[in-house]
Amino acid sequence: MQTNLTEQFRNTPSGQKADKILRSCVHCGFCTATCPTYQLLGDELDGPRGRIYQIKQVLEGQQPTARIQKHLDQCLMCRSCETTCPSGVKFGQLLEIGRTVVEDSVGRNHLSAFLRSLLNQLLPYPGRYKALYSLGLKFKPLLPITIRKHLIPVQDCDVDETAGNDLSSEKTLLMHEGCVQSVVTPETNKLARKLFQRLGYQVKSIKESGCCGAVSDHLLKHSDALEMMKRNVDAWWPSVEAGAEGILVNASGCGVMLNEYAEKLAGLPDYAEKAKIIASLVKDPVELLSNEDLGKLDIQVPDLKIAFHAPCTLQHGLKQQGVVENLLRKLGFKLVEVTDSHLCCGSAGTYSVFQPEISSTLRSNKLKALTKENPDIIVTANIGCQMHLQSGLDKPVRHWISLLV
Ligand code: SF4
Ligand code: SF4
Repeated sequence: MQTNLTEQFRNTPSGQKADKILRSCVHCGFCTATCPTYQLLGDELDGPRGRIYQIKQVLEGQQPTARIQKHLDQCLMCRSCETTCPSGVKFGQLLEIGRTVVEDSVGRNHLSAFLRSLLNQLLPYPGRYKALYSLGLKFKPLLPITIRKHLIPVQDCDVDETAGNDLSSEKTLLMHEGCVQSVVTPETNKLARKLFQRLGYQVKSIKESGCCGAVSDHLLKHSDALEMMKRNVDAWWPSVEAGAEGILVNASGCGVMLNEYAEKLAGLPDYAEKAKIIASLVKDPVELLSNEDLGKLDIQVPDLKIAFHAPCTLQHGLKQQGVVENLLRKLGFKLVEVTDSHLCCGSAGTYSVFQPEISSTLRSNKLKALTKENPDIIVTANIGCQMHLQSGLDKPVRHWISLLV
């Protein structure tokens, strides 16, 4: 597609990046067929091609409006369109640029600005989030439904996390503990640690590291996100230099963000090279387990019907479509078929807070698809999806690695 960006954007790094992405789109519209918001709302402007067109218009000089902001806000950032696109259009990167330009011009109303700042000051900080989450659980019956629906019981387990660490092992993994996951489902990291220790790794968490920055980035609080990224690079770098084999990330949403460190820190001379190396070490558990001999784990396969929910961040972001399902089936687990598994469940980070109607319709559709074959348990690979699905279901929703420990 031809472009003619205004002077204001033509000479900036993000303008040049957007220009390149816009030019790669041939406007064929294949992507609209797999876009959840287009399917639901039936409006071209709420599909990828329409959003690309609106961003193009803004970068070519059209005044951004609240209406354009709404169509961009309604995007889930699920990247299903990227998987479908035959031209390799990097829609996620373009949307981030478009949203930032529109937000700088249109702003937010007071309530929305306050909510966004509140979430930005809360979710990435496990101490603050844990204190408030515990309070929320205690007083759950008294809270309005809009808050109650985001509170699921904490999933924890008794595992001696230090017992299995073979300090003489030369295979070291750093574990990114995440923010929300470490508070709401601490069992996930504990079980992952145990699993990889059994496979002979020494698993280390670096206490100076923290949130990957995804929450702030999605809320367009870019400077906060940048500080978090720099802090993590600084925290992990000594262990990387000492030969760590990988950075284990048990939430695919964080995994996508950490994979993008190279791109996001490319403009900072002190961090660019380190970020590139760190991004190359980031691994979802399935990427590591696919190369391991799992026979030595002596996994007991329960007689349960299992439905796997594939997070968008796993299948469209990390491009691991079908990999967990194949691995589980190979190990003997009974997985039921799930229709429309490419579609988002409606969680999408903080999307469920700001777009409750679309989010809850997508959740209902997803739960219908997941429970059609009456599974005993639902498993997934990302904390956001796990909480979102669990809040609408009595059956357990767990991280899939819990099946292996
Ligand atoms: S993003 Fe890809 S699939 Fe969608 S219109 Fe552009 S080229 Fe076609
Ligand atoms: S990221 Fe998802 S919701 Fe957004 S345009 Fe692409 S397919 Fe649609």
